[in-house]
Amino acid sequence: MTPMEANVTPTSKSINLSQIPQPQNFYSFTLETLQEYFKKFGKEKFRAQQVYKWVYEMRITDIDQMTNLSKDFRSELKKLLTFELPPVIKHLISVDGTQKFLFDVRDGNSVEAVIIPSDDRLTLCLSSEIGCNMSCHFCYTGKQKLKRRLTADEIVGQFMQVHDSLNRAGKGQRISNIVFMGMGEPLDNSDEVFKSIDVFHAQTGINLSLKKITVSTSGLIPEMYKIAQAKVRLAVSLNGYNNDVRSEVMPINKKYPLADLLDECKRYHRATGEKITMEYVLLAGVTDQIDHARQLVRLLKDVPCKVNLIPFNEHPGAGFTRPSDETVQAFHTECMNLGAQVLLRRTMGRDIFAACGQLSTKVGRTEETMDISNSKIGGNNVRSFSGR
Ligand code: SAH
Ligand code: SF4
Repeated sequence: MTPMEANVTPTSKSINLSQIPQPQNFYSFTLETLQEYFKKFGKEKFRAQQVYKWVYEMRITDIDQMTNLSKDFRSELKKLLTFELPPVIKHLISVDGTQKFLFDVRDGNSVEAVIIPSDDRLTLCLSSEIGCNMSCHFCYTGKQKLKRRLTADEIVGQFMQVHDSLNRAGKGQRISNIVFMGMGEPLDNSDEVFKSIDVFHAQTGINLSLKKITVSTSGLIPEMYKIAQAKVRLAVSLNGYNNDVRSEVMPINKKYPLADLLDECKRYHRATGEKITMEYVLLAGVTDQIDHARQLVRLLKDVPCKVNLIPFNEHPGAGFTRPSDETVQAFHTECMNLGAQVLLRRTMGRDIFAACGQLSTKVGRTEETMDISNSKIGGNNVRSFSGR
């Protein structure tokens, strides 16, 4: 075989470039898999590192601008890689600074990512699937059956598009945290989700600390060990103060009951030393009573965790209502008085339909349902959306 580049001696296993059927999307590769891919074509390991640096550190995807690569390698690269990102079809900015991005993921489907600013961080909430099969009764995404699992390049692509948009805005904002709390159940798509985490964490590249990445799950127990293995943070959608109530609102609990889920959480803590974040949605009359708060604190007494209270975000036809602010406060206070570490999550982005459990797979939904220029935070303007 003829060497493809003057300073490269291909291995006996290397493949001629004419044999590749089509270029692969760069964003689907971890550093390691890119090295393997290049190796097949007789390229050394450091080539993958070079390209990673250009793309993730310098944000250069025009191969001709990758000036430390030889001309020959650059022309070969064009046959090996593409740099496609899911197009942004809608970008909405809330009055509270939350931003929602809607991405086209082909075949008329879309997914959403949301950035949520707070004092010391800028958190990006990513989607892992189009729709979700877990069918939690209170969740808007759960009403839309799973259409497809996202590929790693589509997950990394959400990050890169948001990152580039922040760069263009020129305010020096950078994504500091990632949470898999958008559309879909990340552990129902664990291969692609953990591949994307590998990309986010790679030192040559985005270089995000694993402590800044949280995977949230409805409780797919057999897959949960992967969260500890990846050394990222675990969040659990608890949403019930006992087994029966949890089964009522989250059908997955019938398959993987609460007691086993809490055992798995303790296992995670033993393996990582990290506390678990328990997400608890407050549904009027269902999970928001003072006695429910007491049962919740009792339930979690041996689980090293902090609880995030999320007042239910209403969506059309949900069949649940949001508790009053007084009820929410009383629940919060009761948990604190009983010694629980509990945070009341401020609802963000309601005016752009970007709050927890309000994400939709349909292209154009936000256009139909809201007028961002008149939006106000804190009111129940979600209710006034017409036609649903
Ligand atoms: N599928 C994963 C991650 C996405 S859901 C999971 O369930 O953990 C992200 C969070 O939003 C979950 O904690 C869920 O309980 C919460 N959520 C879903 N619908 C909601 C709604 N309508 N109002 C408030 N929170 C909701
Ligand atoms: Fe799926 Fe999470 Fe919504 Fe449940 S809460 S339906 S697991 S996205």
